[in-house]
Amino acid sequence: MKLIDLHTHSTASDGTMKPSELVRYAKTKGLSAIALTDHDTVSGIEEAIRTGEEIGIEVIPGVEISVEYDAELHILGYFVDYNNPEFIFSLEKIRNTRESRNNRIIEKLNKLGFDITMEEVVGEAQGDVVGRPHISSVMVKKKQVKDIKTCFEEYLGYGGRAYCSRERVTPKQGIDLIKNAGGIPVLAHPKYIDTLKVKEKIKELKQMGLLGIEAYYSYNTNVETGNFLRIAIENEMLVTGGTDFHGKNKPELEIGIGLGNTKIKYELLKKMRTFK
Ligand code: AMP
Ligand code: ZN
Ligand code: FE
Ligand code: FE
Repeated sequence: MKLIDLHTHSTASDGTMKPSELVRYAKTKGLSAIALTDHDTVSGIEEAIRTGEEIGIEVIPGVEISVEYDAELHILGYFVDYNNPEFIFSLEKIRNTRESRNNRIIEKLNKLGFDITMEEVVGEAQGDVVGRPHISSVMVKKKQVKDIKTCFEEYLGYGGRAYCSRERVTPKQGIDLIKNAGGIPVLAHPKYIDTLKVKEKIKELKQMGLLGIEAYYSYNTNVETGNFLRIAIENEMLVTGGTDFHGKNKPELEIGIGLGNTKIKYELLKKMRTFK
């Protein structure tokens, strides 16, 4: 069976493998295709596609954008035109909103007594996106927290003691951004939306132009996956799937299989192409 992974991160955002390394790694794991979906940037795409062509694995250009919501709501974009100047400029504007937020997080952490500076955090990032995984990575290295997971639970995650929100684009703006770059907008990890609200929320997003749902995801229970598949069918939407592989920044997740059981069939990708 041909398997794929449509949600991965490289050093261009907060993954730990270079785009070329990530693509080679996916090939060694037997995958037939991957999408590179870095947060707020497409700077790793060219390298990833070039490597894919060299070694014979399909690479789909993608992106992941965080949009306004009371918790985390992320929109994935597939087959985006990563050379489109307006698109690149819009992503740059989005990245700029991270800077103020990172500063506020560091301030909170300092107030909580942690010795951590912005310089250390920026030093941890290898691409043009600096985010919370880089902050947590510094804290783990300095032995201020046990591991990244604990760090998010206690400090950086939604509801954590150093949590700060950032200015985000609206869901409609996020969807339009992807569509204007020729891409297919898909709701990432719907399990992070309140179970009681997810169906309505998806309908609302569909009205705004959302075309698909990431029904297969590393942390889903079988019941959740079944529910998202049903919602996708009811609304005549695309189904996609990915692990959210981040290399060592999410050490429990393996590319292509997540915690071990996530299997995403190549057929999904074929169907996506018909929506372009
Ligand atoms: P940011 O881009 O700064 O908003 O950070 C988002 C990143 O933090 C994404 O890669 C998430 O997958 C990661 N993240 C969010 N919650 C957790 C968690 N509980 N454990 C590990 N990583 C997380
Ligand atoms: Zn990430
Ligand atoms: Fe996400
Ligand atoms: Fe992600």
